[in-house]
Amino acid sequence: MRIVLLGAPGAGKGTQAKRLAEQFDMQHLSSGDVLRAEKASGSELGQSLSQYMDAGQLVPDDVVVSVMAKAISAPSDKAGLLLDGFPRTVGQAEALDKQLDELGSPLDLVVDIQVPDERIVARICGRRSCPECGAIYHVEFLKPKTPGVCDKCGFEGKFSLRADDREDVVRERLAAYNEYTAPLVGYYRGGDAGRVLRVDGDKSPDDVTTEMMSMLKADRA
Ligand code: AMP
Repeated sequence: MRIVLLGAPGAGKGTQAKRLAEQFDMQHLSSGDVLRAEKASGSELGQSLSQYMDAGQLVPDDVVVSVMAKAISAPSDKAGLLLDGFPRTVGQAEALDKQLDELGSPLDLVVDIQVPDERIVARICGRRSCPECGAIYHVEFLKPKTPGVCDKCGFEGKFSLRADDREDVVRERLAAYNEYTAPLVGYYRGGDAGRVLRVDGDKSPDDVTTEMMSMLKADRA
């Protein structure tokens, strides 16, 4: 099965993608992770990504399309494919359709996880990570057992906020999502991958998984 997972940043795509990929034996490709790895590699291409990613702006289509095309065509031992964070524009969706057509393996389904913007801002801007080991916390929803002390590595001090989790940057990322990515629902509704499943993401991660799995199983029946 080949699925595209849509949803604003912070809608819970990453968590749900991991669960979906495991359940249906799909290769999980997150464009954010692929681009962050390229950035961390220090390559010339990677260095050029910071100016967009740190500001919460979309990386230009030609760059993302070529990086993701390489990742999609790399050999995998999984039967299916789950794309998380890609495509994010109609141009990327067209390039993906073309590549999958050439590979003879078109998309089966698009899953759209919906969460209101203000809930997204609260979720992302409250995220903190341990500067020592990277463990993730939330000022409201996931506090360490002892305030200011990391549960995992014992680090004591100030937890950090990812550069692109600041409120101004989050609002920029949401604006980009609403302008460029939300229209993909219409794009996919009109095309061959005419089936778009909408899932209410404003619930606990377990409840979202339950709803999504039952919709997918009903869809495949
Ligand atoms: P994410 O972890 O999916 O929120 O992605 C982090 C950042 O990577 C985004 O804010 C963009 O700058 C960039 N990015 C990830 N996927 C894409 C994409 N499909 N198109 C353009 N930029 C992307």
